[in-house]
Amino acid sequence: MLERAYRLMPAQALKKERFELPRLETLVQGTKTIVKNFGPAMKAINREPKHAMKFLTREFAVPISFADGKLLMNGKVSQEMLDKSFKGYLEEYVLCHECGKPDTRILEQQAGIKILKCDACGASKPVKRL
Ligand SMILES: [Zn+2]
Repeated sequence: MLERAYRLMPAQALKKERFELPRLETLVQGTKTIVKNFGPAMKAINREPKHAMKFLTREFAVPISFADGKLLMNGKVSQEMLDKSFKGYLEEYVLCHECGKPDTRILEQQAGIKILKCDACGASKPVKRL
């Protein structure tokens, strides 16, 4: 019975139920910090790496570059600091403020005003420019 129910459910719905927010993995090397899974993490939340890079550059005030799916931060950033900062990014630019789901898009309205629009519940709110 259960197996049948699962088969009848659209694959998409199942996938969304299991969605987990990615956690960035840092590796400090000397005076630099590497975020090993930055590319896959951005793919998982459906955002451009450049967008989150701008956010992190502002947060930590260090030069940041992106290559081969990895982020290279020119400074020491602890896992705790990055977790906290990335959580702020997710709350502002990814998670719906109404239903908490990550099925959102950033849309440009008129005159450069950007909004976070939720595909799950339809809610939208303006977001800060980066
Ligand atoms: Zn929503």
